[in-house]
Amino acid sequence: MPHITIDQEKCVGVGKCARVCPKGERIYGVIKVKGQRKCVVKDSSFCLGCTTCIGSCPKGAIEIDFSAPKTRR
Ligand code: SF4
Ligand code: SF4
Repeated sequence: MPHITIDQEKCVGVGKCARVCPKGERIYGVIKVKGQRKCVVKDSSFCLGCTTCIGSCPKGAIEIDFSAPKTRR
């Protein structure tokens, strides 16, 4: 299963990752931390490994470790 990491320092909480991801809010959620919007990974087990989110993030905050991919890339 791919392991998704969001760099909380870079993330600006735009939620674009959740919008472009085919599994959307099953995987990503935007929460407020100290008054700032931040994206968190709720459940990476739904990830299809399509990498769409990585390319869509304006801050390059998303990293996915595909060392144990669920589906072919
Ligand atoms: S697209 Fe990037 S900056 Fe926007 S919420 Fe997702 S991880 Fe954060
Ligand atoms: S790689 Fe694809 S399925 Fe996985 S979190 Fe990103 S957009 Fe969603």
